[in-house]
Amino acid sequence: MLITEEDLSLLNRNFNSWTVLALAGKDKSKKKIVLCRCVCGSLSCVRITVLFQEKSKACRRCSRIGIIINVTHGYCYTPEYRIWQAMKARINNPNSKFYHRYGGRGIKICDRWLESDGQGFLNFLEDMGTKPSEKHSIDRINNDGYYEPSNCRWATQVEQTNNTGRNKRLLYKGIERSISEWSRRLRCNPNTLTGRLKRGLTIEEALAIPIDKSKRRNIKKNIKKY
Ligand SMILES: [Zn+2]
Repeated sequence: MLITEEDLSLLNRNFNSWTVLALAGKDKSKKKIVLCRCVCGSLSCVRITVLFQEKSKACRRCSRIGIIINVTHGYCYTPEYRIWQAMKARINNPNSKFYHRYGGRGIKICDRWLESDGQGFLNFLEDMGTKPSEKHSIDRINNDGYYEPSNCRWATQVEQTNNTGRNKRLLYKGIERSISEWSRRLRCNPNTLTGRLKRGLTIEEALAIPIDKSKRRNIKKNIKKY
């Protein structure tokens, strides 16, 4: 088979979710094909004409989930893929800027989202769905919990700030208040509540267990500081 300069120029080029890895000869209909890797990691042989005409933009599974790389020029990942990669870096890479706040303090990612050969990303996508908007990012509902389907949601920055520390909202007996608000009502130190939650108590337990009188006295001093 004659390999042209043009064929060779395809190597490492990106066509939507596909990256061309190697020339793969011709298919049964004598059309030139190339071995491609989808952004999820799966491999497939695709006709060159199909790539150029954008009749195939990603592997079947990725196409089915609706994840197609939005390309104008060159290579560009989907926002979800970038988020998935950044999440892995925060957890696994000690050189990552935010490692100390994540992997460094024991936060982990569930095995399902780390499966090899791109399956981890697909699982992540299947569980989380696509981002509802540009402004949404991944958020852990319990800030000390793992990155796993039951503890993650897409949230905007505003929603995320409300979910950290004393602004975290707790639903108890049908009423939702921040930890600060609950602690004021229960006349206790917010740290008592956050501490209880950190120790693994449920919201019910954390709010229902009576506050130690000795602690209550200390709190009066603390409240003045706020
Ligand atoms: Zn794919």
